Amino acid sequence: MFATPFLDLPPLAGAAGSVQLPGSKSISNRVLLLAALSQGQTEVHDLLASDDTRVMLDALRELGCTVDEAGNGLVRITGLGGLNGTLPRSPARLFMGNAGTAMRPLTAALALLGGEYQLSGVPRMHERPIGDLVDALRQLGCHIDYLGNDGYPPLHIAHGAGLPQLRLQEPIRVRGDVSSQFLTALLMALPLVAREQDIVIEVVGELISRPYIHITLELLARFGIAVRHDAWQRFTIPAGSRYQSPGSIHVEADASSASYFIALGAIATGVNGQNGIKIEGVGLDSIQGDIRFVEAARAMGAQITGGPNWLHIARGSWPLKAIELDCNHIPDAAMTLAVMALYAEGTTTLTNIASWRVKETDRLAAMAIELRKLGASVEEGADYLRVTPPATARDWRAASIHTYDDHRVAMCFSLAAFNPARLPVRIEDPKCVAKTFPDYFEALFQVAQADSGHVPVICIDGPTASGKGTVAAEVAARLGYHFLDSGALYRVTALAAVQAGINLSAENEAAIAQLARTLPVRFEGSQIWLGDADVSEAIRTEEAGMNASRVSALPLVRKALIALQHGFRRLPGLVADGRDMGTVIFPGAPLKVFMTASAACRADRRYKQLISKGLSANIFDLRADLEARDARDQNRSAAPLKAAQDALALDNSTLTIDETVSQVLVWWQEHQPFATAAAG
Ligand code: C5P
Repeated sequence: MFATPFLDLPPLAGAAGSVQLPGSKSISNRVLLLAALSQGQTEVHDLLASDDTRVMLDALRELGCTVDEAGNGLVRITGLGGLNGTLPRSPARLFMGNAGTAMRPLTAALALLGGEYQLSGVPRMHERPIGDLVDALRQLGCHIDYLGNDGYPPLHIAHGAGLPQLRLQEPIRVRGDVSSQFLTALLMALPLVAREQDIVIEVVGELISRPYIHITLELLARFGIAVRHDAWQRFTIPAGSRYQSPGSIHVEADASSASYFIALGAIATGVNGQNGIKIEGVGLDSIQGDIRFVEAARAMGAQITGGPNWLHIARGSWPLKAIELDCNHIPDAAMTLAVMALYAEGTTTLTNIASWRVKETDRLAAMAIELRKLGASVEEGADYLRVTPPATARDWRAASIHTYDDHRVAMCFSLAAFNPARLPVRIEDPKCVAKTFPDYFEALFQVAQADSGHVPVICIDGPTASGKGTVAAEVAARLGYHFLDSGALYRVTALAAVQAGINLSAENEAAIAQLARTLPVRFEGSQIWLGDADVSEAIRTEEAGMNASRVSALPLVRKALIALQHGFRRLPGLVADGRDMGTVIFPGAPLKVFMTASAACRADRRYKQLISKGLSANIFDLRADLEARDARDQNRSAAPLKAAQDALALDNSTLTIDETVSQVLVWWQEHQPFATAAAG
């Protein structure tokens, strides 16, 4: 996840490959509850890992279910088995966080099963209505009290010994126009008590969010409960219904999340002869309403094929075709259409989207403002949006996209990076995607490609102990970029040679170069691995530094490490530290910094560093070593240590690390076309 203040997307050129999307939240929590009510074990595959599913799993454990989290999205639930099985452990206190998908159905199920429970959540949960569900359950004869405000959690469910006496002959009436979760809760819980007679639920008022009720009915069917409905107003749970575990069930990937990759396939050209985007985990037979985004994307020109659990999308018509569409059935995914409209010929009109105004933010206003920043003409109506793309490539603008703490704004605007003007796009507060898709940008970068030369590189070169490594790593962290510590590659090469018993002298140049070419080196955060060995410590000794300096003077060794270093230049960008980053490895880099500090100052820093690690050190020897190393690095014939001609000099003898980092970020910011948002 990118926790940086902003993420700059370089201009993207193409995309191809396959993505696995996170599981749907709505499906995950429904499946967990149904598995808990069934007899025996259910293997749930591809469960979404999120706050809301965590709450449900904890609650099920508390109630006595055996929950085995096997990792990698696989969870095994041993269910309680309903009325004929084990009753939930009672009394119990359950914490529901802010998970409506756990609070509502659990309330219904526990109220029907008897026992004593307290259900509470975070303060926001105590502001989310539940009165209509409680009214419906009270009609039936369940005992539920409000512990705080009437109509809101926390709740207390209390029955004396034995099962509650329930009135099931009359239809149960529930409002459908506040939250469809009330109806979902009843539909999932009432099969528990549908023994001698059918149970009928009648919806009062218009039923909103019908696609979510569709998901509920589909999943109930997978667990053996065949609910009938008349025009989505009257639902009948047949007498004798029993939850039957399907044994194993896969949670579909989130169809709204799929919309970004469907759009990506429609917009991007292929790369390296590979064409199109394959989405795994959700297919044309999806039970989620947003799968109908596929139809809209096709209407705009996308070529989409699919099967039971996959979709494949390739560019079809180009430019895309403008459409006019009533988006009431796909409110969330329709935001993606508004960004696709930037690549269409003509004006796209999205209607019936008034619900956008009451989501995470006023999405109608937000989309209009941000699309205009990119150069589009936008008409914002009370319940519609009309988008006309920039007239020519020259009319596109480099924009810093404000994301309003709305995951969908952040995700859909990433697609603007395919603009024909080859402008970067800044996404502010990229971590807001965590609501549904924490690794969205990582998934995007896995399949998207920039033109070579468009992935930005910041080079920070300089002599040893100038602080460049610390500064480069911090600059990378602040920008969300990759980090290349090229010195470590020479250190690891030297270590590998020593371990192989090769003397580090010029006559062994070819053998050391051969080692370097096939170096099994891996960087994992701050850890560095050589094969199976963690060598992070071993390469940091003074001796290892000296050895690195020796092997780095050998031209064939330097050549052998070039491809490995180029491989670090990946989306969204790279900060590279070393001696020849700006002169040899990335000569076209847009920002090169040559960092120095006086020899006295560097010796002092190295001394303090060693002492703080509990190692003994002598400052005079250290300074002599540094100067010897500098002399060798500067005087060798292959890539001698020197500033690139276009490098900016930064002497940090009197600066703190923070001040040095800020200076580099200010320089970087000056290279960016964005008007707003300061770096750092
Ligand atoms: O930066 P660090 O002290 O880890 O580098 C160890 C040695 O590797 C340096 O003294 C230098 O001789 C060599 N080196 C190099 N080119 C680089 C990075 C490091 O020659 N790009």
